[in-house]
Amino acid sequence: MKSRSAPGYFPPKVKTQALVAAGRHCCLCHKYCGTKIECHHIVPVEEGGPNTRANCIPLCFNCHAEVQSYNEKHPKGNRFRPEELKAHRDNWYKQVRSGFQEDVRPIYEADRKLFADFLRILPSNGVAVYQLRHEPFGSTFRWEAGDALREFLNEREGPEYEFLDTELEQLRVDLRKCILELIDAIATNTFIARHSTAGDPILQFDRELGYKDPREYERRRSEVIDAADRAYQAYVTFIRQCRKQLES
Ligand SMILES: [Zn+2]
Repeated sequence: MKSRSAPGYFPPKVKTQALVAAGRHCCLCHKYCGTKIECHHIVPVEEGGPNTRANCIPLCFNCHAEVQSYNEKHPKGNRFRPEELKAHRDNWYKQVRSGFQEDVRPIYEADRKLFADFLRILPSNGVAVYQLRHEPFGSTFRWEAGDALREFLNEREGPEYEFLDTELEQLRVDLRKCILELIDAIATNTFIARHSTAGDPILQFDRELGYKDPREYERRRSEVIDAADRAYQAYVTFIRQCRKQLES
């Protein structure tokens, strides 16, 4: 009699084929698993699922537990249906076959140039970024960041200043939005008291309001401080991602 694997277990040959096809990565979360990988029956054995390669999907422990944890009696979230699991698996096998090429994003020379230009306008040791990060925005403050921020906003506006890489472009748009919000918060909550000898405006919160309504005064100051903080965070995220993507 021909030897057969026990019911409910994939034969070694099927497992080997599946693990090679997946590159020992989990077909759902795509992390590399090494030995910590399991072959899951897409259609459960109890429901007549066969021990074939077509019914097998390699999963990490976490995803395997997740896929099995769905309780029909207490439905929470959306369960993984067999067709969906098959589609995830086939997509992943395809990526492994193509040498992960679909995962690697191209690096555009134009994006490199744009990033260099951008760093020239807003270097992290420049006055604008320094002010975003360190300006305590006391009752009066000298606003030196204006020129650099305006150059970034106004002179780098238009399709030729968009990143070709969609993720970087999204981060650039986020940064613009944060800077616009900061400029708006400053315009709404402060006024120009005078100009410094260097020509930068000296801005001031409404001191009288500080005496009359200290809470409202603080609220206005916080609006500016928070907006500056968000702009700085958006700046850091943007620079880090550009470097990761463009300087590698
Ligand atoms: Zn996983």
